[in-house]
Amino acid sequence: MITANQLQELANTHGTPLFIIDHDELRSNYAIFKNNLPRVQAYYAVKANPDPVIVKTLFEAGASFDVSSIAEFNNVFDNIKDLSDEEQHQWVWDNIIYANPIKAEETLRELDKYQPLMTFDNREEIFKIRDHAPSSRVVLRLRVSNAGAMVELSSKFGASHDEALELIFEAVNAGLTVAGLSFHVGSQTTNFENYMQAINMAALIFKEVKERGYDKMDLLDIGGGFPAPYDESVKPFSELAKRINTELDRLIPEDIKIIAEPGRFLVATTATAVSKIIGKAVRHGKLCYYIDDGVYHTFSGVIFDHCQYHFDAFKEGPTQICTVFGPTCDGLDVISMTEELPQDLQRGDLLSSKNIGAYSGATSTYFNGFPPAKVIQVNR
Ligand SMILES: *Cc1c(COP(=O)(O)O)cnc(C)c1O
Repeated sequence: MITANQLQELANTHGTPLFIIDHDELRSNYAIFKNNLPRVQAYYAVKANPDPVIVKTLFEAGASFDVSSIAEFNNVFDNIKDLSDEEQHQWVWDNIIYANPIKAEETLRELDKYQPLMTFDNREEIFKIRDHAPSSRVVLRLRVSNAGAMVELSSKFGASHDEALELIFEAVNAGLTVAGLSFHVGSQTTNFENYMQAINMAALIFKEVKERGYDKMDLLDIGGGFPAPYDESVKPFSELAKRINTELDRLIPEDIKIIAEPGRFLVATTATAVSKIIGKAVRHGKLCYYIDDGVYHTFSGVIFDHCQYHFDAFKEGPTQICTVFGPTCDGLDVISMTEELPQDLQRGDLLSSKNIGAYSGATSTYFNGFPPAKVIQVNR
């Protein structure tokens, strides 16, 4: 845990805005994931936070990776660039899934030499993969319930149970190796039933495919969605893990390899933003603080991730409900309209915002000439 004093010292040394990543916390989250789900290999979903130092720490901890673009693939690949061609090939084979169901032809051609796992969920994609990356091992992405997730994904991706068998055999007939099944229950899923239903659906499909004579499916990818402990309403991860383990042991044969694609769970709690108050006004009777970081930058999750972040002040005193604005001239740059903060904070005072490691700075822009926050790595 980084203390308030450490945050202040870092801000004194480096200025603001800062985005501080704690690698002890990252290693700890990875260990919690592994220890609670012993049958599951974690493929970190790089899109949650593509910082190359995060990728490196997880690589060293033994993680595998879910990538969804060539840039993300290369970000991970950098860690194995000193290996021989043969070792690189083997490592990618064992440790990377390209989990974007829709891939450009150029991307497929670049990936083909490594034969990574890749997902698909529609007929068009089968023919594209056959033509441009015929040696891939494909994984069918299923459409499963995303009920109660903070970020819904099931309207964009996934094949229904009915479509699944048809697509699997269409891929086999096109000469592809169908390695298994995947799903995503929606990001920050606090409704654990989604996982249970999805595992049950996958188990049925495994059985049906085998009965129809195809026996090469040996992989189940239970996706991402594992909730970060943003507040007390999120039930402990150990509770979810216990339920998942029970269903996996009950329904999924031992010779099926099980992987997951945690993003948010591994990185959300690893980062803290430190910003500075640069302006203060009262508008329509409401106290407004203007800070030097905003929704075009570290707080982009307010827009893209449907996430609400909270602030801690470094001073105490009587509080009131305030609005916190980002620094740009755009009216969209509102971080929170209901933040309880001390009412006598002054220009130059600092605010911190924890649990901001996932889907945050990754979508930062240079809008209005304001650069992204400076990234500081601690306990690396
Ligand atoms: C975004 C994404 C993830 C990570 O999801 P989290 O909710 O952050 O765990 C995993 N798999 C796929 C295919 C994704 O698109």
